[in-house]
Amino acid sequence: MAEPSTLLLGLLFLAVAAGWVLGRSASASDKGEDKSPPSQYYLGLNFLLDGEQESALKAFSDALAVNAETFETHITFGSLLRKRGEVDNAIKIHQSLLSRSKLPDVQKNQAHLELAKDFIAAGLLDRAEQLLKDLIELSVDHQADARVLLIEVYEASRDWVQARQLAESQLVEVSSQQEPAAVARASAIREKLAHYCCEAAEDDDMRGDTESAGRLATEALNWCDDAVWPQIILARLDHKGDKAQEAYDRLMRLAQASPDRLPEFIQDLLVVSDEIDRRDDVTDLLSALLEHTQDPQMRVIAAEEYLARGQQARALDVIKQGLLTQPSPKLLRQAIELLGEDVVSPEVIAGAQRLASRQSAYLCGVCGFHGPSFYWQCPGCKSWDTLHRPKQ
Ligand SMILES: [Zn+2]
Repeated sequence: MAEPSTLLLGLLFLAVAAGWVLGRSASASDKGEDKSPPSQYYLGLNFLLDGEQESALKAFSDALAVNAETFETHITFGSLLRKRGEVDNAIKIHQSLLSRSKLPDVQKNQAHLELAKDFIAAGLLDRAEQLLKDLIELSVDHQADARVLLIEVYEASRDWVQARQLAESQLVEVSSQQEPAAVARASAIREKLAHYCCEAAEDDDMRGDTESAGRLATEALNWCDDAVWPQIILARLDHKGDKAQEAYDRLMRLAQASPDRLPEFIQDLLVVSDEIDRRDDVTDLLSALLEHTQDPQMRVIAAEEYLARGQQARALDVIKQGLLTQPSPKLLRQAIELLGEDVVSPEVIAGAQRLASRQSAYLCGVCGFHGPSFYWQCPGCKSWDTLHRPKQ
């Protein structure tokens, strides 16, 4: 277990001192309230001075948890420890709070919620799940927060059946509300439900159950009819079922409706178009899409397609235009590679490749997470469909 840092312990010590003074003054006006025993506070101080940090933390926790007035200080320290990665110590603090029989129920429930967050941070998802289910039963005030966390637990454990059930119950609740914000929330929940169906469809497809995968992807479209992911899954299933024409039609429609997501299915589209001898139409579509966008990634895709079709001059032209209007390291690399070693030295080509490889392919618009691979759910903030290619 990680030792708590001296700085944190020092801060906790000060908080306990302040909290205890507050607690004592409050208790003085209410003789029925339990009073914090100063012995724990001095004991903690002794442990701290002796360098016994674990024992000091325990003593301070004991001192701090005794009265309700110090509760918020305690919760703040617990969450601070969790955010610093000292999850074991956060768990100890919150468990210690829950062991206090004299805390009002509302505060106990809050500690309960914090402990569930600790368990999620520690990867103890089973324990978090049980705590959150209990809390949903116990506290009307904490139900909404507990449901949000419980969905997080189901997502992390890839339990899409339970995630869907919970999201559907959230949707029923939100749909009954009248305020304008409820409409936006309901739409966000529907989008999330579509993603859960797609995750489940991908799992079923991996297991070889294409029938169930198809059913789930179709259900995803019922939740959100302009979602991209279900169409990609359905096209892949069409292709597997020897229906290349259907897959092609679906992906061509998708390319026109959602050109931003084209990099996620361009390879599938090229494969099926070759199979039914419609590659020319894909090349034409890429040219048409290029006329309406400054997106350098679209230029990269179009230039690669022209090169694959043996149209070097056309490819170079598209790249040059891009370098003038909206340059990117990848376009520069393509241009230099295309010019070849007759024109530029191998060192320049290698330099351009290094420059391009440093640019993250994807960036989350919510939390700033970036990396080379695409995910439908951001690995950083767990938002759905927020990874996009940087526009430069
Ligand atoms: Zn993110």
